[in-house]
Amino acid sequence: MDHPSPHADLLDALHQRLGERGLLRDPAAMARYLSDWAGERLGMPLAVARPASTTEVAETVRLCRAHGVAMTPQGGHSGLVAGALPAADGGELVISLERLDRIRDIDPVNFTMTVDAGCILETIKQAAAEHDCDFPLSLGAQGSCQIGGNIATNAGGLNVLRHGMMRQLVLGLEVVLPDGRVWDGLTALHKDNRGYALAQLFLGSEGTLGIVTGAVLKLSPRAIQSRTALLGLPSVEAVIALYGRARRECCDLLSAFELIPRRCLELAMEATPELTEPLDAPDPWYVLMEVSASGAMDLDAMLEGLLAHGMEANLVRDGALASSDAQAARLWQFRESMLEGQRRRGEHLRTDISVPISAIPDFVAQASRAIHARSPDCEIIAYGHVGDGNLHFNILPPAGMAETQKKAHLHDLETRLFEILDEFGGSLSAEHGIGRTKQAAYLARLSPVERELVEGIKALFDPAGLMNPGRILPDRR
Ligand SMILES: Cc1cc2nc3c(=O)[nH]c(=O)nc-3n(C[C@H](O)[C@H](O)[C@H](O)COP(=O)(O)OP(=O)(O)OC[C@H]3O[C@@H](n4cnc5c(N)ncnc54)[C@H](O)[C@@H]3O)c2cc1C
Repeated sequence: MDHPSPHADLLDALHQRLGERGLLRDPAAMARYLSDWAGERLGMPLAVARPASTTEVAETVRLCRAHGVAMTPQGGHSGLVAGALPAADGGELVISLERLDRIRDIDPVNFTMTVDAGCILETIKQAAAEHDCDFPLSLGAQGSCQIGGNIATNAGGLNVLRHGMMRQLVLGLEVVLPDGRVWDGLTALHKDNRGYALAQLFLGSEGTLGIVTGAVLKLSPRAIQSRTALLGLPSVEAVIALYGRARRECCDLLSAFELIPRRCLELAMEATPELTEPLDAPDPWYVLMEVSASGAMDLDAMLEGLLAHGMEANLVRDGALASSDAQAARLWQFRESMLEGQRRRGEHLRTDISVPISAIPDFVAQASRAIHARSPDCEIIAYGHVGDGNLHFNILPPAGMAETQKKAHLHDLETRLFEILDEFGGSLSAEHGIGRTKQAAYLARLSPVERELVEGIKALFDPAGLMNPGRILPDRR
């Protein structure tokens, strides 16, 4: 005997409102909404709704609210903390924003762009460039992540040291609240001090306070030239000393400054065999840096000067300055391929922590000692965006460790790493957010006052607790 599907009334109403393209119920059709970039997969949603407008998002949310069904807002599912993946119990409706993909308006004089939340980041960057502007958020997942996901996670990529994170790049938002009302906060004002900054509450809220459907983004003048260099250095101390010099000597035109250990270069060359040794001899640490300008400046002279001064001060051992866009792209390929190289090594601990920039050398040394004291044969791969104090202090389990032991072992090492991080006043999430995977560690570090405020905000926006339950805060239903 056929059992009626749970929430059949809701699904019928959604089907009627959103049409065939707007509601997926067949497991094969839903498959691509169930896993993220890392291949992690949680479970099966009730269905996948694909509304095509803000009005349809609002109606979907209203219907869910009326039927008491939880919702999972979903962008490009490139998030790395399982925030956009539906729970395993089949009780959540995935609401994908992928059909809200219109660039609504570009104002190159006001340096703003108004977009639907489902626009892919790469598309936004291209549209800005066509109007002689830059949208400066750049990250490895930009070909698939959506601007709504970037807003919900307060994303920040390679250029944060120059342009800030999403919090600094958003002027206004349009949001469907958990009860289905639409908040129109689509202001294009660069200065606006009217009371509480409501839009900022949604930045980094990971879909727990409402569904972002539109945004006004802040643009920059388009960089007409940029230069990239890969430098070899003897130590992390030298990297940080060079960073201070680079900020000053490069007239605030520094747009990226990446710390890369030797091992990452090797992983990149393994993953992409056409990449070859970039410098004459191996160095323990590398910096991949970029300077860019929207006007005429002698960037070559600037970088050559920095390299010469760095060598005189024994900070830099060797360097390669890209002399064409193709060469620059090749250097950046090391940064991209090293991620694939790590992924191929199977299950490992990924972190996105931050400490004050000046503390990076001590932190790397102390954390490495503490982790190796616990697990002498594990492999540490620490790289990151130096200009933001943001490190990916990743750990590969010892070679040969049984698959069944890895999860618990890596969890134990993460716990130890976070203890050291606490001693440095660091953050356990500088980029990816809390989602599900960081929740316990995050909650354990909240003071009673912080916990009360955070839970109060959630209760104010979402008293029924149906909007992305169990992410950031425990599911209170
Ligand atoms: C290769 C790679 C490199 C990366 N590099 C970086 C980096 O440099 N910096 C960085 O910050 N992150 C980075 N990330 C993480 C990821 O790309 C970002 O978190 C991104 O902002 C997520 O966007 P998304 O559209 O894929 O969101 P999803 O993964 O779909 O969702 C992420 C969270 O946002 C919520 N959400 C999504 N859309 C909406 C919406 N419209 N309204 C409300 N909530 C919503 C979801 O419920 C979920 O909680 C990287 C990821 C990969 C795979």
